[in-house]
Amino acid sequence: MDKATRFRLEARPRIPDSLERLHELANDLFYSWDHGVRNLFARIDQPLWQKVEHNPKLFLRRVAQERLDEASQDRAFLAEYRRVLSNYDAYCESEPVPEVTEYLDPDKYRVAYFCAEFGLHESFPIYSGGLGILAGDHCKAASDLGLPFVAVGLLYQQGYFIQSIDAQGHQIARYQSHTSDELPITPVMQDGAVLKVSVPFPGRMLTARVWQARIGHIRLYLLDSHTEENTAEDRELTLQLYGGDENTRIQQEMLLGIGGTRVLDALGIEPTAWHINEGHAAFQILERCRQTMGKHDLPFEAAFEAVAASTLFTTHTPVPAGHDIFPKGLVEHALSPYLEQSGLNFDQIFALGSKDGGESFNMTSLGLRGSRFHNGVSRIHGGVASVMEGDIWPQIPAAENPIGYITNGVHVPTFLAPEWASLFDIQSPTWRSELRDPEYWDFIDQIPDYHYWSVHKALKQQMGEFVVEQLRRQHERNGTGHSVTERMTRQLVSPDKDTLIIGFARRFATYKRATLIFSDLDRLERMLTDPERPAILIFAGKAHPRDNPGQHLIKVIHDLSMRPALMGHVLLLEDYDQAMARYLVSGVDVWLNNPEYPKEASGTSGEKAALNGALNLSVLDGWWGEGYDGENGWAITPRDTRLDPEFRNLEESRDLLDLLEFEIIPLYYDRASQGYSKGWVKRSKASMKTITPRFNAQRMVMDYVERYYHPASVQGARLMANKAREARELAQWKAKVREAWSGVSMSVVGCVDAQCAYDETVELRVEVVLNGLAAEDVRIECLVTPDCTGSHEASGPNRFILEKEGEQDGRTLFSAQVPPPYPGLQTLRLRMYPYHPALTHLLEMGSMLWV
Ligand SMILES: *Cc1c(COP(=O)(O)O)cnc(C)c1O
Repeated sequence: MDKATRFRLEARPRIPDSLERLHELANDLFYSWDHGVRNLFARIDQPLWQKVEHNPKLFLRRVAQERLDEASQDRAFLAEYRRVLSNYDAYCESEPVPEVTEYLDPDKYRVAYFCAEFGLHESFPIYSGGLGILAGDHCKAASDLGLPFVAVGLLYQQGYFIQSIDAQGHQIARYQSHTSDELPITPVMQDGAVLKVSVPFPGRMLTARVWQARIGHIRLYLLDSHTEENTAEDRELTLQLYGGDENTRIQQEMLLGIGGTRVLDALGIEPTAWHINEGHAAFQILERCRQTMGKHDLPFEAAFEAVAASTLFTTHTPVPAGHDIFPKGLVEHALSPYLEQSGLNFDQIFALGSKDGGESFNMTSLGLRGSRFHNGVSRIHGGVASVMEGDIWPQIPAAENPIGYITNGVHVPTFLAPEWASLFDIQSPTWRSELRDPEYWDFIDQIPDYHYWSVHKALKQQMGEFVVEQLRRQHERNGTGHSVTERMTRQLVSPDKDTLIIGFARRFATYKRATLIFSDLDRLERMLTDPERPAILIFAGKAHPRDNPGQHLIKVIHDLSMRPALMGHVLLLEDYDQAMARYLVSGVDVWLNNPEYPKEASGTSGEKAALNGALNLSVLDGWWGEGYDGENGWAITPRDTRLDPEFRNLEESRDLLDLLEFEIIPLYYDRASQGYSKGWVKRSKASMKTITPRFNAQRMVMDYVERYYHPASVQGARLMANKAREARELAQWKAKVREAWSGVSMSVVGCVDAQCAYDETVELRVEVVLNGLAAEDVRIECLVTPDCTGSHEASGPNRFILEKEGEQDGRTLFSAQVPPPYPGLQTLRLRMYPYHPALTHLLEMGSMLWV
C-alpha cells in the first residue's frame, strides 16, 4: 500500500489580458441570473463547468491554460465575450426605475435587509430552502429595480449540507468546506485592513470578519467568525447553517443581529428602513437601540420607539420549528455581557421576547414588538399570523391588528428558462420591463400553440436528460444493478411517448405531506402505469438532519421508487439545490404541492413552475389561494382544520387522485393529430400569463417599497426630528397610558336601542373615567354594521368618532350625532383606545375597551 503523505498543489492558470474581465464576471452574482455569463464560462470548458458545479471562481482556478488561450484566440468566443460584457455594463449603468425614486429617493433613503440565509445560486450554498431563495430573489429584484438597498447575513464555511440517499433510502448529510476564494465574495477593507467587528459574548469578545458579495447594483455583507482573534470553538460558530444546538443558534443570531448592525455602522451606512426577514435577525433591534441611545443621548424607551418606527418584521411560517424560542437561562447567559456593556436592562429586554408571560424568549415576539410594520407572506398567511401572534396586541381583534401581508414572488430572470425568454423576445421584446403589468401578459395568447409546445417539449427533454444522468450517478454509487437503473429511466428517455411528468421538490418537512399522493397505492399505481396514458412522479428534497420524521418520508418514497410495480414511475433525486430546481420547474408538466393547510405560508416553487408553463396542482394555501382562478391549474380545497388530521389527509388525497384521474391525465393525453393537447396548452398559457406578472419578485419588492420601506423611512425620521422630540414624547405617553389603562372605563349614557327616521341622527353619549389621561389621549369610536346587508356591499363598518363634550363628577363626557348609514336595522358598537398623533399604527399599543 502507498503510505506516502500527499501534498496538494494547485496550478492556477493565468487569465489572458483579452479575457481579463472574466474575473469581474465571476465576482458578481449577476451570473446567477444572466445566462449569457454562465454560457460564456461553459463554452470555455463544458465538462469542467459541470464539475465545478457552475462556480465561476472555482472554474477560473481550475481551467487549463490552453483552454483559456484558445478562447482568447477564438473570434466567435471573443464576440460573445464582448456582447456579455456590454450587457453587463449596461445593467450596471442602468438607472433606478422611476417608481423607486419616487418612493425611495436614493439621496435620502436606504433599506437594510437582514436574513440568516441567502439562496442566490448553487455555487454559493448559504441557504437551506424557501426562505433563503426568497431572500436571494428579493436582493436580485432590488438590484433590478435600483433600490437603495444593502443586505446583511452570515457566511457559513460549510453552509447547508450536501445530501445523498443510500441504497436503503437513508439520507446521508455531508458537509463541505468552502474557502473564500472559491465563493463570489471579497473581503471588505477599511484603512488597509480587513474590516472586523466584535460583539461581547460570555467571558470573551467575539470577532467577525466582514465580506461582501456583489449582486448587481447592491451589496450583501456577510459576517464570518473564522478569524484568529477567536478561540477554536468560536471560529466554528459560523460553520454551518442551522447546525449545532440552541447555544450555537443564539450566538449565531447575536452575531447576525448585533454584529450585522455594527458592520453597517462601521461602514458609515445609515439605513432609514430596516427589514428583519424572519426572527433570526431580530437582535438587531437591541444594537440599534444602543447606538441610538449613545448617538442622540436618549433614554432606552425613546430610542426603542424610534427604532421600532423604522423597522419592518416579516414572519415566514406558522410552523413552530421556524420560530426560535430560547429558554430564559440561555438568553440571560448569552446576552448579559452585551447588555451590561450597553447599559440595557435584562428584564426589560427579556419582556420584549416573552410570549404568554412565560419563561422563554421568542425571537418572533422580539421582532414584532421591536417593529411597527409587520407582515406575513400571503393573504392566508397574513390572517393566520395575525391570530397566532395576536397576543402582542392583546385587546385588539386579530383582523385589525397591524400584521399585513405581501405575497412572495420569484425572480423571473433566475427561474425562467432562457428558451422561454427567447420566445418572449420574439413575441413581445419589451416584456422584461413589464413584469408588473398583468394586462401586458396577454401577449402569451398570441404565441402559436405549436411553437409554445415545442419550447416546453425541449425543456422537458433537457430535464429528462438531467434526471437520467442524476439517477445513474446516484444508483451506480449505491451499487444498484445496471438493469434496474435502465428500467428506472426507461419511461423518461422515450420522448416520442411524451409521458406526463409530475414534479414534487421542496424541503421534506412533514407538513408538506410528500407522501399524500400514495394514500391509495393501488389506485395510484393503476394510473401511473397505464400503458396508454402513463405518468411519472419525480421527487427531490432535503430533510433537516435532526428532522427524523422528515427523513422517514424520504425512505418511504425511496422504497416505493424501488418497487418493481412502480419502477420508473416514481423517481427520487438526491441533493435538491437551486440548479436542480431550475431543471425541474421548467421541465415538468405538473407541479404538485399538497401542504397541510394553513401551514404553507406562501410557497414559491409553484410560482417558478408557472413562469415556465407547468400547471400547478395544489392545495389552496399560501400563494395558490390567490393565484388560482379556476382556469390556470387545479386546486385541492382544504378540509376544515378542526377535523381529524387522518380524515383530512384521506379526503384531500382523494381529491388529488380524482383530479389526476378524471381531469389532468385525460386533458394531457387529449392529443389530436398535432401531437399535443390543445386544451392543455390553453391552460398552460392561462397559467403563465396570469401568474408571471403577479407572483414575481419585482412586484413583491415594489409592494415592500410602497407599503413598508417608504412609510418606515418617513416615520423613523419623523420621530427622530428635532432632537427626537416625538420619540421622547411617544415613549413618555406610552408609559403614562400603560400605567393608567387598567383604571380606565367607559359606559353609555341614556338609552342605547333607538329608532329614527332615515334622515335623522341619533345622539350617542358615553361617560369615561380617564384615570389621569386627557381626553386627547384616547379615541372613542362607534362602529356601525348593517344587520341585514340586503343590497348593500358587505364592506367594513362605518365609523364615527365621539368628541369630548364636557366633564362631570370626575367623568368625561363624549358624544356624537350619528346619521344611520344603512337603511333598516343596524348594529352599533362603541370602543375606546389610546391615541397619539405620533403612533405608527392606530392600534399599536394593543389596548382597547368595548362598552
Ligand atoms: C424555490 C425553492 C424552494 C422553495 O420551495 P417551496 O415550494 O416554496 O417550498 C426550496 N428550495 C429550492 C432549491 C428552491 O429553488
